[in-house]
Amino acid sequence: MYSLRNTARRLTRKEAPTPGLVGLEDGLAQPIVFEGHPEIARLFPDLHPPFSRQAAVIESDRCLNCFDAPCTSACPTHIDVPKFIKKIASDNMRGAALSILEANVLAGSCSRVCPVEVLCEGACVMHRYNKQPIAIAKLQRHAMDTFHARGGRLPRKTDVERAERIACLGAGPASLAAAAELRQRGFQVTIFDKKPLPGGLNTYGVAEYKLSTEDSLREIELIRELGVEFRFGVDVGAEGTLAALDREFDVLFVGVGLGAMHTLGMPGAEHPAVVDALTFIEDYKLGLLTAVAGDVVVVGAGNTAIDAANAAARLGAGSVRIVYRRTREHISAFDFEYAHALQEGVAFDWLTQPVAVHDAEDGRVALECVAMRIEESGLLQPVEGSSFRIACDLVIPAIGQSPLVGLLASFREVQVERGRIVVDRETGQTTNPKYFAGGDCVNGGREVVDAVADGKRAGIAMAKMLEVAHVETA
Ligand code: SF4
Repeated sequence: MYSLRNTARRLTRKEAPTPGLVGLEDGLAQPIVFEGHPEIARLFPDLHPPFSRQAAVIESDRCLNCFDAPCTSACPTHIDVPKFIKKIASDNMRGAALSILEANVLAGSCSRVCPVEVLCEGACVMHRYNKQPIAIAKLQRHAMDTFHARGGRLPRKTDVERAERIACLGAGPASLAAAAELRQRGFQVTIFDKKPLPGGLNTYGVAEYKLSTEDSLREIELIRELGVEFRFGVDVGAEGTLAALDREFDVLFVGVGLGAMHTLGMPGAEHPAVVDALTFIEDYKLGLLTAVAGDVVVVGAGNTAIDAANAAARLGAGSVRIVYRRTREHISAFDFEYAHALQEGVAFDWLTQPVAVHDAEDGRVALECVAMRIEESGLLQPVEGSSFRIACDLVIPAIGQSPLVGLLASFREVQVERGRIVVDRETGQTTNPKYFAGGDCVNGGREVVDAVADGKRAGIAMAKMLEVAHVETA
């Protein structure tokens, strides 16, 4: 439980081993197994209950099977939406899932976390007729859930085993998509990650009611079953590690994502009652945190801020408020996320800028804030003499992640600009032809589906490059 009284001795993984985490230190041939905490499962049930088989068939019958379907164009991985929906309509569930997986190997996760309102469903022609768009995400989820329940496996694209070895750095969506693409073509792929579980933010950073840790891992298990090797607990930034990987592997894919969250950068920012949003989300998802006492203030108004605020509310916080220096119109959270936060009872303080964290009476903290005003030019200015304090027990900054500047700079001859790896957009190849990259370390932080698209593109390009090199040296 987080509160000022115990945040100083906040649970760490060492003190409280993750429930059900099966020894994955080397993880070479072991299934990826994780059993969540029952209290977390109780507090974070599915936000959108799945379709029954009958409901899925009825919904799929509404699809017009559009030619040049705009829903497919709107999907960064270009899932052939009418094709898979047609298969659901004819009860060909395996065919539907394989059609989806052909485009997007993390289709189950994407069906839960994609902002479909601004992607496929937002593009559905039904809007033109003032009708509800087809529930593409729920149909996709139905196909993938059925596939998993029936023990489906990812198909290989060849039976040929190839000798070339590829290292994927980071076990997030971009690396997983690249690894699957390469392994399906017979290449030897090893994924390296510092954490003990694969999946990156899918596993550790997405609100549990959208995507549970178990569901994220279940999908990755398909990739492991293909023969992709996972090495956990490996810090590729550690002295000598990268040089060794560079020597040992034919090609490297960089999918390391972003680094730590920005800190508040104000007096008191290091106070033990200040816990960044991703740490907070990870702790409850792993069952290290199952209740929150007292009042919580979240700083920032993006989607992660809302995930953290909603989680604090569900974990039992007395009150949860989001403070944001601008106004409702300026927030980066999607509209449906904002609406969801209001439903969860989260309050919003607009034009409020925190400036310091202080100790307060009764072992609480006081978040000192000033009121802001927006000038005509758009500049934000503090209102003189407006300082006030919000008494609370936990402060959760959610003000974005920093790029892994030091790590990115250590990749040999790989150009980095403003904290992002520069790549050829068609292939994901960097300025060092042996290195490819994708996901957040390239795009600065976008959706899971964008990372999957990057990884897939790069996987295909790496395979092509190695095949050509093989022919030339044969
Ligand atoms: Fe079906 Fe809508 Fe896509 Fe047309 S745009 S194919 S109706 S989901």
